[in-house]
Amino acid sequence: MIIAIDGTAASGKGSLAKRLAAALGLAHLDTGLLYRAVGMKVARAGGDPADPALAVAAARSLTDADRAADDLRSDRAAQAASHASALPGVRAALIAFQRDFAHRPGGAVLDGRDIGTVICPDADAKFFVTASAEERAARRHRELIARGETVSLDSVLADLRARDDRDRNRATAPLKPADDAVTIDTTGITIAATVDRALAVLADKGLTGASGVRTDARGSNPLK
Ligand code: C5P
Repeated sequence: MIIAIDGTAASGKGSLAKRLAAALGLAHLDTGLLYRAVGMKVARAGGDPADPALAVAAARSLTDADRAADDLRSDRAAQAASHASALPGVRAALIAFQRDFAHRPGGAVLDGRDIGTVICPDADAKFFVTASAEERAARRHRELIARGETVSLDSVLADLRARDDRDRNRATAPLKPADDAVTIDTTGITIAATVDRALAVLADKGLTGASGVRTDARGSNPLK
């Protein structure tokens, strides 16, 4: 089973993806980390993440160690990712890795911006997760403060809006719901409630039993 989860920054899509994967025994790939790793690989070397030659070279040579760097959750990494990810050559360099991950035998949940539209258009289930900009900024602000960053709520809100605009308006793989995605607005609802909604959608599709247990427990998809 492949589950595609796309959405705006700090919408709760990552938390949903992680929890669904744990509940269903699926592997999880946070694809934002790939773009963050590319952007930071360039930025750490003193380059501009929006420079096509540097960013494409970084994407083509990305290693497991790059993906595990400890500065990828920072605000700087988010901005670097947002610029590098708009480059078609960067996106092209990362497609095979994401598709291979998605098609692993046990099934997978991937979250990002173009999973349902470009990476896995045939996913068994697609979700598009969003929330008000103010609530998303408040969540991201709490996260950054907890991580020891000193940043104001206003600047987090401005950065989120700028990032969403770039993600929505880029020419290659813009952020948008797939035609067959189920939209979940997480404004004012908890992660647990969001997971319950997603599990109900999967049960409706016959992908899990009413208890939330996968109907393809051995990892093969009975619907294909
Ligand atoms: O999801 P996250 O906030 O970690 O993503 C960081 C940035 O990486 C996004 O703002 C977006 O520009 C880019 N991204 C993307 N496609 C994805 C995942 C992330 O363009 N599938």
